[in-house]
Amino acid sequence: MSDLPVNLAYLAAAVLFVFGLKMLGSPSAARRGNALSAAGMLIAVVATLLARDIVAFHWIAVAAVAGAVVGALAARLVAMTAMPEMVALFNGSGGIASLLVGSAALFPATAGVSSVDAGGISMFTATTILLSVLIGGVTFSGSIVAWGKLAAVLPSGALVFAGQRLVNGGIFAALLVCGVFFALAPAPDSPYFIAVLVLALALGVMAAVPIGGADMPVVISLLNSYSGLAACAAGFAINNNILIVSGSLVGAAGIILTNIMCKAMNRSLVNVLFSGFGAAKSGAKVEGEVKPISADDAGLILEAASAVTFVPGYGMAVAQAQHVVHELGELLEENGCEVTYAIHPVAGRMPGHMNVLLAEANVPYDQLVEMDDINRRMANVDVAVVIGANDVVNTAAREDDSSPIYGMPTINVDHARTVFVLKRSMASGFAGVDNPLFFGANTRMLFGDAKASIAALIASLKA
Ligand code: NDP
Repeated sequence: MSDLPVNLAYLAAAVLFVFGLKMLGSPSAARRGNALSAAGMLIAVVATLLARDIVAFHWIAVAAVAGAVVGALAARLVAMTAMPEMVALFNGSGGIASLLVGSAALFPATAGVSSVDAGGISMFTATTILLSVLIGGVTFSGSIVAWGKLAAVLPSGALVFAGQRLVNGGIFAALLVCGVFFALAPAPDSPYFIAVLVLALALGVMAAVPIGGADMPVVISLLNSYSGLAACAAGFAINNNILIVSGSLVGAAGIILTNIMCKAMNRSLVNVLFSGFGAAKSGAKVEGEVKPISADDAGLILEAASAVTFVPGYGMAVAQAQHVVHELGELLEENGCEVTYAIHPVAGRMPGHMNVLLAEANVPYDQLVEMDDINRRMANVDVAVVIGANDVVNTAAREDDSSPIYGMPTINVDHARTVFVLKRSMASGFAGVDNPLFFGANTRMLFGDAKASIAALIASLKA
Protein backbone atom coordinates (compact mmCIF):
# COMPACT_ATOMS: atom_id res chain seq x y z
CA MET A 1 0.00 0.00 0.00
CA SER A 2 1.38 3.47 -0.81
CA ASP A 3 1.69 6.15 1.85
CA LEU A 4 -1.28 8.24 0.69
CA PRO A 5 -4.16 5.85 1.55
CA VAL A 6 -2.49 5.02 4.87
CA ASN A 7 -2.09 8.66 5.79
CA LEU A 8 -5.69 9.34 4.71
CA ALA A 9 -6.84 6.50 6.99
CA TYR A 10 -4.69 7.97 9.79
CA LEU A 11 -6.24 11.39 9.16
CA ALA A 12 -9.75 9.91 9.43
CA ALA A 13 -8.71 8.15 12.66
CA ALA A 14 -7.25 11.38 14.07
CA VAL A 15 -10.48 13.27 13.26
CA LEU A 16 -12.50 10.55 15.05
CA PHE A 17 -10.15 10.78 18.07
CA VAL A 18 -10.58 14.55 18.29
CA PHE A 19 -14.38 14.43 17.98
CA GLY A 20 -14.55 11.46 20.37
CA LEU A 21 -12.47 13.36 22.93
CA LYS A 22 -14.66 16.44 22.57
CA MET A 23 -17.78 14.33 23.20
CA LEU A 24 -16.25 12.92 26.40
CA GLY A 25 -16.66 16.45 27.83
CA SER A 26 -20.41 15.94 28.28
CA PRO A 27 -21.86 12.97 30.20
CA SER A 28 -24.76 12.59 27.73
CA ALA A 29 -22.40 12.29 24.72
CA ALA A 30 -19.57 10.39 26.47
CA ARG A 31 -20.63 6.87 25.41
CA ARG A 32 -20.89 7.88 21.73
CA GLY A 33 -17.57 9.69 22.06
CA ASN A 34 -15.96 6.52 23.37
CA ALA A 35 -17.40 4.47 20.49
CA LEU A 36 -16.21 7.07 17.95
CA SER A 37 -12.66 7.00 19.32
CA ALA A 38 -12.69 3.19 19.35
CA ALA A 39 -13.75 3.20 15.67
CA GLY A 40 -10.84 5.58 14.97
CA MET A 41 -8.45 3.18 16.70
CA LEU A 42 -9.77 0.25 14.65
CA ILE A 43 -9.17 2.17 11.41
CA ALA A 44 -5.66 3.09 12.57
CA VAL A 45 -4.77 -0.49 13.53
CA VAL A 46 -6.13 -2.00 10.28
CA ALA A 47 -4.34 0.61 8.14
CA THR A 48 -1.09 -0.05 10.00
CA LEU A 49 -1.38 -3.83 9.63
CA LEU A 50 -2.08 -3.57 5.90
CA ALA A 51 0.56 -0.98 5.15
CA ARG A 52 3.64 -2.02 7.04
CA ASP A 53 6.29 -4.51 5.99
CA ILE A 54 5.23 -6.97 8.58
CA VAL A 55 7.62 -9.89 8.85
CA ALA A 56 5.04 -12.36 10.13
CA PHE A 57 1.45 -11.95 11.19
CA HIS A 58 1.28 -14.95 13.52
CA TRP A 59 2.97 -13.20 16.49
CA ILE A 60 0.68 -10.23 16.00
CA ALA A 61 -2.33 -12.58 15.99
CA VAL A 62 -1.12 -14.28 19.18
CA ALA A 63 -0.63 -10.89 20.90
CA ALA A 64 -4.01 -9.59 19.66
CA VAL A 65 -5.83 -12.67 20.96
CA ALA A 66 -3.96 -12.55 24.30
CA GLY A 67 -4.71 -8.82 24.64
CA ALA A 68 -8.39 -9.31 23.74
CA VAL A 69 -8.74 -12.13 26.30
CA VAL A 70 -7.12 -10.05 29.07
CA GLY A 71 -9.26 -7.02 28.12
CA ALA A 72 -12.53 -8.98 27.97
CA LEU A 73 -11.82 -10.78 31.27
CA ALA A 74 -10.84 -7.50 32.96
CA ALA A 75 -14.04 -5.82 31.72
CA ARG A 76 -16.18 -8.66 33.05
CA LEU A 77 -14.34 -9.64 36.22
CA VAL A 78 -12.85 -6.44 37.64
CA ALA A 79 -15.30 -4.99 40.16
CA MET A 80 -16.32 -1.34 39.81
CA THR A 81 -14.57 -0.72 43.13
CA ALA A 82 -11.29 -1.89 41.59
CA MET A 83 -11.58 0.44 38.57
CA PRO A 84 -9.10 3.03 39.93
CA GLU A 85 -6.45 0.33 40.30
CA MET A 86 -7.22 -0.87 36.77
CA VAL A 87 -6.83 2.66 35.40
CA ALA A 88 -3.42 2.85 37.12
CA LEU A 89 -2.42 -0.47 35.52
CA PHE A 90 -3.67 0.71 32.10
CA ASN A 91 -1.48 3.82 32.38
CA GLY A 92 1.44 1.56 33.27
CA SER A 93 0.71 -0.74 30.30
CA GLY A 94 0.77 2.29 28.00
CA GLY A 95 4.15 3.24 29.43
CA ILE A 96 5.75 -0.20 29.06
CA ALA A 97 4.31 -0.57 25.52
CA SER A 98 5.92 2.71 24.45
CA LEU A 99 9.17 1.69 26.11
CA LEU A 100 9.18 -1.57 24.14
CA VAL A 101 8.17 0.02 20.83
CA GLY A 102 10.82 2.72 21.24
CA SER A 103 13.46 0.09 22.10
CA ALA A 104 12.43 -2.04 19.10
CA ALA A 105 13.41 0.84 16.81
CA LEU A 106 17.01 0.10 17.82
CA PHE A 107 17.05 -3.23 16.08
CA PRO A 108 17.75 -3.51 12.33
CA ALA A 109 14.98 -6.12 11.91
CA THR A 110 12.51 -3.32 12.55
CA ALA A 111 14.10 -1.11 9.91
CA GLY A 112 10.99 -1.48 7.79
CA VAL A 113 8.91 0.21 10.41
CA SER A 114 11.43 2.65 11.81
CA SER A 115 13.72 5.38 10.67
CA VAL A 116 16.69 3.10 11.11
CA ASP A 117 18.56 3.07 7.82
CA ALA A 118 21.54 1.30 6.43
CA GLY A 119 23.76 4.06 7.77
CA GLY A 120 22.70 3.36 11.36
CA ILE A 121 20.52 5.24 13.78
CA SER A 122 20.31 9.00 13.38
CA MET A 123 20.80 11.29 16.37
CA PHE A 124 17.13 12.33 16.04
CA THR A 125 15.88 8.73 16.18
CA ALA A 126 18.22 7.97 19.07
CA THR A 127 16.76 10.94 20.97
CA THR A 128 13.17 9.82 20.35
CA ILE A 129 14.08 6.26 21.42
CA LEU A 130 15.59 7.69 24.60
CA LEU A 131 12.48 9.76 25.29
CA SER A 132 10.14 6.81 24.79
CA VAL A 133 12.27 4.65 27.12
CA LEU A 134 12.64 7.44 29.69
CA ILE A 135 8.99 8.57 29.80
CA GLY A 136 7.64 5.04 29.24
CA GLY A 137 9.83 3.65 32.03
CA VAL A 138 8.85 6.40 34.49
CA THR A 139 5.17 5.88 33.58
CA PHE A 140 5.40 2.12 34.06
CA SER A 141 7.11 1.99 37.45
CA GLY A 142 5.29 5.12 38.71
CA SER A 143 1.94 3.53 37.78
CA ILE A 144 2.85 0.31 39.59
CA VAL A 145 3.52 2.37 42.74
CA ALA A 146 0.19 4.25 42.21
CA TRP A 147 -1.58 0.90 41.79
CA GLY A 148 0.04 -0.37 45.01
CA LYS A 149 -1.15 2.70 46.93
CA LEU A 150 -4.70 2.48 45.55
CA ALA A 151 -4.92 -1.29 46.14
CA ALA A 152 -3.54 -0.79 49.67
CA VAL A 153 -0.62 -3.11 48.86
CA LEU A 154 1.60 -0.13 49.74
CA PRO A 155 0.90 2.51 52.42
CA SER A 156 -1.30 5.21 50.83
CA GLY A 157 0.59 8.12 52.44
CA ALA A 158 3.63 9.98 51.16
CA LEU A 159 6.99 8.30 51.75
CA VAL A 160 9.50 11.03 52.47
CA PHE A 161 13.08 10.59 53.72
CA ALA A 162 16.10 12.80 54.27
CA GLY A 163 18.10 13.42 51.11
CA GLN A 164 15.25 12.28 48.84
CA ARG A 165 15.61 15.23 46.48
CA LEU A 166 19.37 14.66 46.32
CA VAL A 167 18.82 11.01 45.34
CA ASN A 168 16.23 12.00 42.69
CA GLY A 169 18.53 14.73 41.38
CA GLY A 170 21.37 12.19 41.20
CA ILE A 171 19.24 9.72 39.22
CA PHE A 172 18.16 12.48 36.84
CA ALA A 173 21.75 13.68 36.30
CA ALA A 174 22.91 10.09 35.65
CA LEU A 175 20.04 9.71 33.16
CA LEU A 176 21.16 12.81 31.27
CA VAL A 177 24.80 11.68 31.13
CA CYS A 178 23.93 8.14 29.99
CA GLY A 179 21.41 9.55 27.50
CA VAL A 180 24.02 11.80 25.90
CA PHE A 181 26.55 8.93 25.63
CA PHE A 182 23.89 6.72 24.06
CA ALA A 183 22.79 9.40 21.57
CA LEU A 184 26.41 9.91 20.49
CA ALA A 185 26.85 6.20 19.66
CA PRO A 186 23.40 4.57 19.52
CA ALA A 187 23.47 0.79 19.34
CA PRO A 188 21.23 -2.02 20.62
CA ASP A 189 24.01 -3.37 22.83
CA SER A 190 25.02 0.04 24.24
CA PRO A 191 25.49 -0.26 28.04
CA TYR A 192 24.23 3.33 28.27
CA PHE A 193 20.89 2.23 26.84
CA ILE A 194 20.49 -0.40 29.58
CA ALA A 195 21.52 2.22 32.16
CA VAL A 196 18.87 4.67 30.87
CA LEU A 197 16.24 1.93 31.07
CA VAL A 198 17.10 0.97 34.67
CA LEU A 199 17.43 4.61 35.79
CA ALA A 200 14.06 5.52 34.19
CA LEU A 201 12.34 2.71 36.11
CA ALA A 202 14.04 3.85 39.33
CA LEU A 203 13.03 7.47 38.71
CA GLY A 204 9.36 6.43 38.27
CA VAL A 205 9.38 4.74 41.68
CA MET A 206 11.22 7.61 43.35
CA ALA A 207 8.91 10.23 41.81
CA ALA A 208 5.72 8.42 42.86
CA VAL A 209 6.54 7.36 46.44
CA PRO A 210 6.58 10.89 47.94
CA ILE A 211 3.10 11.60 46.56
CA GLY A 212 0.27 10.20 48.62
CA GLY A 213 -2.85 10.93 50.58
CA ALA A 214 -5.16 13.51 49.07
CA ASP A 215 -2.60 14.32 46.33
CA MET A 216 -3.02 10.94 44.57
CA PRO A 217 -5.53 12.19 41.93
CA VAL A 218 -2.82 14.47 40.57
CA VAL A 219 -0.28 11.66 40.19
CA ILE A 220 -2.86 9.46 38.42
CA SER A 221 -3.77 12.12 35.86
CA LEU A 222 -0.11 13.05 35.40
CA LEU A 223 0.85 9.42 34.71
CA ASN A 224 -2.01 9.28 32.22
CA SER A 225 -0.48 12.28 30.47
CA TYR A 226 3.02 10.70 30.55
CA SER A 227 1.68 7.52 28.93
CA GLY A 228 0.53 9.70 26.00
CA LEU A 229 3.83 11.54 25.75
CA ALA A 230 5.72 8.22 25.78
CA ALA A 231 3.52 6.95 22.91
CA CYS A 232 4.16 10.18 21.01
CA ALA A 233 7.94 9.74 21.41
CA ALA A 234 7.63 6.09 20.29
CA GLY A 235 5.66 7.34 17.26
CA PHE A 236 8.62 9.53 16.26
CA ALA A 237 11.03 6.63 16.89
CA ILE A 238 9.23 4.32 14.45
CA ASN A 239 8.02 7.14 12.21
CA ASN A 240 4.31 6.44 12.69
CA ASN A 241 2.04 9.46 12.30
CA ILE A 242 -1.03 8.14 14.09
CA LEU A 243 1.00 7.15 17.16
CA ILE A 244 2.38 10.70 17.26
CA VAL A 245 -1.13 12.21 16.96
CA SER A 246 -2.88 9.89 19.43
CA GLY A 247 0.02 10.15 21.91
CA SER A 248 -0.12 13.96 21.77
CA LEU A 249 -3.89 13.92 22.32
CA VAL A 250 -3.57 11.69 25.41
CA GLY A 251 -0.62 13.78 26.65
CA ALA A 252 -2.54 17.06 26.25
CA ALA A 253 -5.79 15.68 27.71
CA GLY A 254 -3.84 14.29 30.69
CA ILE A 255 -2.18 17.66 31.34
CA ILE A 256 -5.58 19.41 31.25
CA LEU A 257 -6.94 16.81 33.72
CA THR A 258 -3.86 17.27 35.93
CA ASN A 259 -4.51 21.01 35.96
CA ILE A 260 -8.16 20.42 36.93
CA MET A 261 -7.07 18.07 39.75
CA CYS A 262 -4.47 20.60 41.02
CA LYS A 263 -7.17 23.29 41.07
CA ALA A 264 -9.48 20.89 42.93
CA MET A 265 -6.76 20.52 45.58
CA ASN A 266 -5.86 24.23 45.46
CA ARG A 267 -2.21 23.21 44.98
CA SER A 268 0.40 23.92 42.33
CA LEU A 269 1.81 20.97 40.42
CA VAL A 270 5.31 21.71 41.75
CA ASN A 271 3.96 21.71 45.30
CA VAL A 272 2.22 18.35 44.78
CA LEU A 273 5.27 16.76 43.16
CA PHE A 274 7.92 17.94 45.60
CA SER A 275 6.39 18.78 48.99
CA GLY A 276 5.28 15.29 50.14
CA PHE A 277 1.65 15.21 51.29
CA GLY A 278 1.28 16.30 54.92
CA ALA A 279 5.00 15.83 55.57
CA ALA A 280 5.17 18.80 57.97
CA LYS A 281 1.56 18.93 59.22
CA SER A 282 -0.63 16.59 61.19
CA GLY A 283 -3.69 18.72 62.05
CA ALA A 284 -5.35 19.49 65.36
CA LYS A 285 -6.86 16.63 67.37
CA VAL A 286 -10.62 16.62 66.85
CA GLU A 287 -12.89 15.93 69.81
CA GLY A 288 -16.53 16.53 70.64
CA GLU A 289 -19.90 14.90 70.93
CA VAL A 290 -21.04 12.56 68.18
CA LYS A 291 -24.80 12.52 67.58
CA PRO A 292 -25.95 9.27 65.98
CA ILE A 293 -29.37 9.04 64.34
CA SER A 294 -31.57 6.07 63.43
CA ALA A 295 -32.78 5.46 59.87
CA ASP A 296 -36.39 5.99 61.00
CA ASP A 297 -35.67 9.41 62.54
CA ALA A 298 -33.58 10.41 59.51
CA GLY A 299 -36.43 9.25 57.25
CA LEU A 300 -38.88 11.58 59.04
CA ILE A 301 -36.56 14.57 58.53
CA LEU A 302 -36.11 13.69 54.83
CA GLU A 303 -39.87 13.41 54.40
CA ALA A 304 -40.28 17.00 55.57
CA ALA A 305 -37.37 18.34 53.47
CA SER A 306 -37.93 20.39 50.31
CA ALA A 307 -34.26 20.45 49.14
CA VAL A 308 -31.91 17.49 49.57
CA THR A 309 -28.35 17.20 48.27
CA PHE A 310 -26.55 13.88 48.11
CA VAL A 311 -22.76 14.08 48.43
CA PRO A 312 -21.27 10.80 47.23
CA GLY A 313 -17.71 9.70 47.99
CA TYR A 314 -15.52 6.63 47.86
CA GLY A 315 -17.71 4.77 50.40
CA MET A 316 -20.63 4.85 47.95
CA ALA A 317 -18.43 2.97 45.46
CA VAL A 318 -17.38 0.45 48.14
CA ALA A 319 -21.00 -0.12 49.20
CA GLN A 320 -22.21 -0.14 45.55
CA ALA A 321 -25.00 2.11 46.83
CA GLN A 322 -25.51 4.20 43.66
CA HIS A 323 -28.69 2.38 42.55
CA VAL A 324 -30.44 2.67 45.94
CA VAL A 325 -29.31 6.30 46.19
CA HIS A 326 -31.07 7.01 42.89
CA GLU A 327 -34.14 5.14 44.13
CA LEU A 328 -34.18 7.29 47.30
CA GLY A 329 -33.75 10.43 45.16
CA GLU A 330 -36.77 9.48 43.01
CA LEU A 331 -38.85 8.82 46.12
CA LEU A 332 -37.98 12.25 47.53
CA GLU A 333 -38.83 13.89 44.19
CA GLU A 334 -42.24 12.19 44.19
CA ASN A 335 -42.65 13.81 47.59
CA GLY A 336 -42.10 17.27 46.00
CA CYS A 337 -38.48 17.61 47.11
CA GLU A 338 -35.74 19.14 44.93
CA VAL A 339 -32.91 16.59 44.67
CA THR A 340 -29.32 17.32 43.62
CA TYR A 341 -26.04 15.38 43.65
CA ALA A 342 -22.91 17.35 44.58
CA ILE A 343 -19.79 16.25 42.73
CA HIS A 344 -16.31 16.99 44.08
CA PRO A 345 -13.63 16.60 41.37
CA VAL A 346 -11.45 14.30 43.53
CA ALA A 347 -14.22 12.26 45.20
CA GLY A 348 -13.60 8.51 44.96
CA ARG A 349 -10.35 7.04 43.69
CA MET A 350 -10.16 8.11 40.04
CA PRO A 351 -11.05 11.24 38.07
CA GLY A 352 -14.78 11.19 37.24
CA HIS A 353 -15.40 8.26 39.63
CA MET A 354 -18.71 9.60 40.99
CA ASN A 355 -19.96 10.59 37.51
CA VAL A 356 -19.34 7.03 36.28
CA LEU A 357 -21.19 5.46 39.22
CA LEU A 358 -24.18 7.81 39.06
CA ALA A 359 -24.42 7.42 35.27
CA GLU A 360 -24.44 3.63 35.78
CA ALA A 361 -27.47 4.10 38.08
CA ASN A 362 -29.17 6.36 35.46
CA VAL A 363 -29.16 9.45 37.65
CA PRO A 364 -30.23 12.35 35.34
CA TYR A 365 -27.20 14.45 34.36
CA ASP A 366 -28.99 17.72 35.11
CA GLN A 367 -29.18 16.77 38.80
CA LEU A 368 -25.37 16.62 39.05
CA VAL A 369 -24.03 19.90 40.41
CA GLU A 370 -20.37 20.91 40.52
CA MET A 371 -18.68 21.91 43.78
CA ASP A 372 -18.66 25.70 43.32
CA ASP A 373 -22.32 25.82 42.26
CA ILE A 374 -23.59 23.64 45.10
CA ASN A 375 -21.54 25.58 47.67
CA ARG A 376 -23.30 28.78 46.58
CA ARG A 377 -26.68 27.05 47.11
CA MET A 378 -25.81 25.09 50.26
CA ALA A 379 -27.45 27.50 52.75
CA ASN A 380 -30.80 26.72 51.08
CA VAL A 381 -30.37 22.93 51.33
CA ASP A 382 -32.52 21.34 54.04
CA VAL A 383 -30.56 18.07 54.27
CA ALA A 384 -27.11 17.25 52.89
CA VAL A 385 -26.73 13.46 52.81
CA VAL A 386 -23.03 12.51 52.80
CA ILE A 387 -22.71 8.98 51.42
CA GLY A 388 -19.29 7.48 52.18
CA ALA A 389 -17.51 10.80 51.56
CA ASN A 390 -14.99 12.09 54.05
CA ASP A 391 -11.98 14.09 52.79
CA VAL A 392 -14.10 16.03 50.27
CA VAL A 393 -16.38 17.28 53.08
CA ASN A 394 -13.68 17.74 55.72
CA THR A 395 -14.19 21.13 57.41
CA ALA A 396 -10.58 21.07 58.66
CA ALA A 397 -9.59 22.01 55.10
CA ARG A 398 -11.27 25.39 55.76
CA GLU A 399 -10.78 25.86 59.47
CA ASP A 400 -7.52 24.26 60.63
CA ASP A 401 -4.38 25.77 59.13
CA SER A 402 -2.29 23.00 60.73
CA SER A 403 -4.21 20.36 58.75
CA PRO A 404 -2.41 18.60 55.84
CA ILE A 405 -5.46 19.31 53.67
CA TYR A 406 -5.78 22.97 54.70
CA GLY A 407 -6.74 25.05 51.66
CA MET A 408 -8.27 22.15 49.70
CA PRO A 409 -11.72 23.25 48.46
CA THR A 410 -14.48 21.07 49.92
CA ILE A 411 -18.21 20.66 49.57
CA ASN A 412 -19.44 22.80 52.46
CA VAL A 413 -22.18 20.49 53.72
CA ASP A 414 -21.98 22.07 57.18
CA HIS A 415 -23.70 25.14 55.67
CA ALA A 416 -26.83 23.07 55.01
CA ARG A 417 -29.56 23.11 57.67
CA THR A 418 -28.96 19.44 58.58
CA VAL A 419 -26.22 17.00 57.60
CA PHE A 420 -26.52 13.21 57.63
CA VAL A 421 -23.20 11.37 57.37
CA LEU A 422 -23.55 7.75 56.25
CA LYS A 423 -20.46 5.69 57.07
CA ARG A 424 -19.56 2.65 59.10
CA SER A 425 -17.37 4.15 61.82
CA MET A 426 -15.50 7.30 62.87
CA ALA A 427 -12.52 6.26 60.71
CA SER A 428 -10.74 8.92 58.65
CA GLY A 429 -10.72 9.06 54.84
CA PHE A 430 -7.96 8.36 52.31
CA ALA A 431 -5.86 11.33 53.50
CA GLY A 432 -5.89 9.98 57.07
CA VAL A 433 -7.10 13.31 58.51
CA ASP A 434 -9.72 13.64 61.30
CA ASN A 435 -12.96 15.32 60.24
CA PRO A 436 -14.54 17.93 62.58
CA LEU A 437 -17.76 17.75 60.48
CA PHE A 438 -18.72 14.57 62.35
CA PHE A 439 -18.96 16.57 65.60
CA GLY A 440 -20.85 19.53 64.08
CA ALA A 441 -23.97 20.88 65.84
CA ASN A 442 -26.16 20.15 62.79
CA THR A 443 -24.52 16.78 61.92
CA ARG A 444 -26.15 13.44 62.59
CA MET A 445 -24.20 10.21 62.02
CA LEU A 446 -26.09 7.31 60.42
CA PHE A 447 -23.67 4.45 61.05
CA GLY A 448 -23.59 1.35 58.86
CA ASP A 449 -22.86 0.21 55.32
CA ALA A 450 -24.10 2.98 52.97
CA LYS A 451 -26.24 0.63 50.85
CA ALA A 452 -27.96 -0.84 53.92
CA SER A 453 -28.49 2.63 55.44
CA ILE A 454 -30.03 4.01 52.23
CA ALA A 455 -32.24 0.92 51.93
CA ALA A 456 -33.40 1.54 55.52
CA LEU A 457 -34.16 5.19 54.66
CA ILE A 458 -36.22 4.06 51.65
CA ALA A 459 -38.12 1.58 53.85
CA SER A 460 -38.77 4.30 56.42
CA LEU A 461 -40.05 6.74 53.73
CA LYS A 462 -42.31 4.06 52.24
CA ALA A 463 -43.73 3.02 55.65
P1 NDP B 1 -12.53 9.17 51.49
O1 NDP B 1 -11.57 8.13 51.07
O2 NDP B 1 -11.98 10.40 52.12
O3 NDP B 1 -13.58 8.55 52.55
C1 NDP B 1 -14.36 7.47 52.22
C2 NDP B 1 -15.18 7.11 53.43
O4 NDP B 1 -16.09 6.11 53.02
C3 NDP B 1 -14.37 6.53 54.56
O5 NDP B 1 -14.20 7.46 55.60
C4 NDP B 1 -15.15 5.29 55.00
O6 NDP B 1 -15.49 5.41 56.38
C5 NDP B 1 -16.41 5.34 54.15
N1 NDP B 1 -16.81 4.02 53.67
C6 NDP B 1 -16.06 3.04 53.17
N2 NDP B 1 -16.81 1.96 52.87
C7 NDP B 1 -18.08 2.28 53.20
C8 NDP B 1 -19.30 1.58 53.13
N3 NDP B 1 -19.39 0.33 52.67
N4 NDP B 1 -20.41 2.23 53.54
C9 NDP B 1 -20.36 3.48 54.04
N5 NDP B 1 -19.21 4.19 54.13
C10 NDP B 1 -18.09 3.59 53.71
O7 NDP B 1 -13.44 9.50 50.24
P2 NDP B 1 -13.73 10.85 49.48
O8 NDP B 1 -14.46 10.45 48.24
O9 NDP B 1 -14.37 11.85 50.40
O10 NDP B 1 -12.33 11.46 49.10
C11 NDP B 1 -11.47 10.84 48.16
C12 NDP B 1 -10.06 10.82 48.66
O11 NDP B 1 -9.28 9.95 47.85
C13 NDP B 1 -9.41 12.20 48.59
O12 NDP B 1 -8.46 12.33 49.61
C14 NDP B 1 -8.72 12.14 47.23
O13 NDP B 1 -7.66 13.06 47.12
C15 NDP B 1 -8.22 10.69 47.23
N6 NDP B 1 -7.98 10.12 45.91
C16 NDP B 1 -8.78 10.47 44.85
C17 NDP B 1 -8.51 10.00 43.59
C18 NDP B 1 -9.31 10.48 42.42
O14 NDP B 1 -8.80 10.47 41.30
N7 NDP B 1 -10.56 10.88 42.63
C19 NDP B 1 -7.39 9.05 43.35
C20 NDP B 1 -6.70 8.65 44.56
C21 NDP B 1 -7.00 9.18 45.78
P3 NDP B 1 -15.81 4.08 57.24
O15 NDP B 1 -14.65 3.19 57.10
O16 NDP B 1 -16.04 4.60 58.63
O17 NDP B 1 -17.08 3.50 56.69
